[in-house]
Amino acid sequence: MSEPAESERELRRAVIATALAMNARGINRGKSGNVSARLRDDICDGFVVTPTGLAYDETQPEDIVPMTLDGEARGSRLPSSEWRFHRDIYRARLDVNAIVHAHAPFATALACLSRGIPAFHYMVAVAGGRDIRCAPYATFGTQELSDRVLAALDGRKACLLAHHGMIAVGTSLSGALALAVEVETLAEIYWRALSIGQPQMLADVEMDVILEKFRTYGQPRRATE
Ligand SMILES: [Zn+2]
Repeated sequence: MSEPAESERELRRAVIATALAMNARGINRGKSGNVSARLRDDICDGFVVTPTGLAYDETQPEDIVPMTLDGEARGSRLPSSEWRFHRDIYRARLDVNAIVHAHAPFATALACLSRGIPAFHYMVAVAGGRDIRCAPYATFGTQELSDRVLAALDGRKACLLAHHGMIAVGTSLSGALALAVEVETLAEIYWRALSIGQPQMLADVEMDVILEKFRTYGQPRRATE
């Protein structure tokens, strides 16, 4: 088999760095979770994903598994058991170049009650909508879970997975990781708020104002403004 191109090697290294950062930032522990990045090369469009059952601090670039959007893997390792939702997200969402899946403790605690994160705080809009949905439970690695993830992510950049964990997507690995950390932070604050009372929700109209602000936040101003 031919050696991967330097750009692919770099992407593999970046996927490992993101998986290590996921654990270092406290949003995942041990071998749980997985990370992928979209791979575009001359041969095919696909993605590279962390392998199954290998500790992130033992993972080398050659262990990262390249896959096509048809779900074919190459390389010496088996892909993460969750490769289906990675593939299906890249197929359905052309805006997504990276995916972080973590068993983040606070987000997962809410997901174990099949609770998403409602508009209790304006930063919920950072995931792209008025709330962060929780996908109904399905067995890990199944097409059923992938279908439910896609529905929960519709119009969103993050969702929780009932009795399982959370997913954040982005245009880059650093963006997906930052969003995953933000979702876990929101889950923790929501959990703390629920432990002392019942937070009031922001109105839809206010969340729409925030969503519009986030759409233009960080964008260069037009010269005429
Ligand atoms: Zn998982």
